[in-house]
Amino acid sequence: MPHLTKLSLALLLAGAASVHAAETADRPLPARQAEIDAIVKEISPQRIQAYVHKLVGFGTRHTMSDTASETHGIGAARRWIKAEMERCGAGRLEVRFDGHLHPVDNRIDKPTEIVNVVATLPGTQAASKDRYYVVSGHYDSRVTDVMNTTADAPGANDDASGTAAVIEMACVMARHQFDASLVFMTVAAEEQGLYGSGDFAKKAKANRMNIAGMLNNDIIGSSHDEKGKLDNGRVRLFAEGVPPLREAPSPELRTLLVTGGENDSITRQLARHVKETGERYVPGFKVDIIYRRDRYLRGGDHSPFLDAGYAAVRFTEPAEDFRHQHQDLRVENGVKIGDYPEFVDPDYVAQVARVNAASLASLALAPAAPQEVKVKTAALDNGTDLVWKANAEPDLAGYRVVWRETTSPLWQGSRFVGNATSARIDMSKDNLVYGVQAVDKDGNVSPATYPLPMR
Ligand SMILES: [Zn+2]
Repeated sequence: MPHLTKLSLALLLAGAASVHAAETADRPLPARQAEIDAIVKEISPQRIQAYVHKLVGFGTRHTMSDTASETHGIGAARRWIKAEMERCGAGRLEVRFDGHLHPVDNRIDKPTEIVNVVATLPGTQAASKDRYYVVSGHYDSRVTDVMNTTADAPGANDDASGTAAVIEMACVMARHQFDASLVFMTVAAEEQGLYGSGDFAKKAKANRMNIAGMLNNDIIGSSHDEKGKLDNGRVRLFAEGVPPLREAPSPELRTLLVTGGENDSITRQLARHVKETGERYVPGFKVDIIYRRDRYLRGGDHSPFLDAGYAAVRFTEPAEDFRHQHQDLRVENGVKIGDYPEFVDPDYVAQVARVNAASLASLALAPAAPQEVKVKTAALDNGTDLVWKANAEPDLAGYRVVWRETTSPLWQGSRFVGNATSARIDMSKDNLVYGVQAVDKDGNVSPATYPLPMR
């Protein structure tokens, strides 16, 4: 089939798909989980706005600013964040400081205690509680000179917006239960070189922590571009395609490249899940996946997680207004410059927080993505034989095979194949991209796993 037209594909998807290994009819999934709807509804723009104002009220949250004062500087800010999550978590969140003494470095001129505030909501299912999803924002701020530790640096959008969203999610989601564990984290020293998130990612990797997804929220506060145009119905989601290439490609990357799987990394699968879930639970709001690690020559706290081998994405508003980032507070030609709270739209932040929360809830209620998914290639034929390792969760219902054209960004077809560890689909493995998802008895679906070739 040299040319797969839209019509022929539609016919193919509608008619020809059949499953031999497990003759189970496709089963419609529930449109929404009532519990996730409740979480989405509970996210409050008013509380998010209050958190942003509180954070701005510390004057500066520069990583090397004052830590002794109770009202000013980064020390007071992090003690407030911790106290707030302890208060609202009411014993259900495990809140702690996660710090390290950072030596003199590129943008660190004296040894500095860099402290993340980490709130964990432990999972309730034995088979899932060691699987973690991390959601993060950075609470440090800066002005034009990244070494200026005393000037007022409100950082309302960059990144009190992300920090406020994380606190709000922690408070709302702590009142619910999930199979897997959730980590609500606010980090420091993003502006100095991603040192807070870097330290967390490094320790996670050393401890073999199973982080199945990381969501970074950085600059999610403004719904207007620099010309004042309103665009409050979408968010950008940066999602890298391939693992970082330092020297020769790793065997994993080489396999992805030779099988055309460069758009099916674990990060892209996480991004697809977030887009599908976010748009389902927050009607009218769009998640625009961007096939990039981040904006040109700019970084974020998801990068160290990618470098540690984890799936990690970044949320950022659709069009940043750079007059309100990293700027000394001033007026130029009658225009107010600086990262002031008045340029943050709490209703918009709440929408982004809802997308995050729905995604996290859906991920943490669902089984883990299937492991060791393989496509058989020993016999040359035009069908697709998939095999995978059985999941361990007690509430597992089975597996769903998903597929799409190689030029399509999102899944186009699916087939529930029951509680089997193999399936045959009578469509070409060469013309379509496949994935396998795990489904629980309530209909919660994991992200897809890309099948690697099995000889
Ligand atoms: Zn930032």
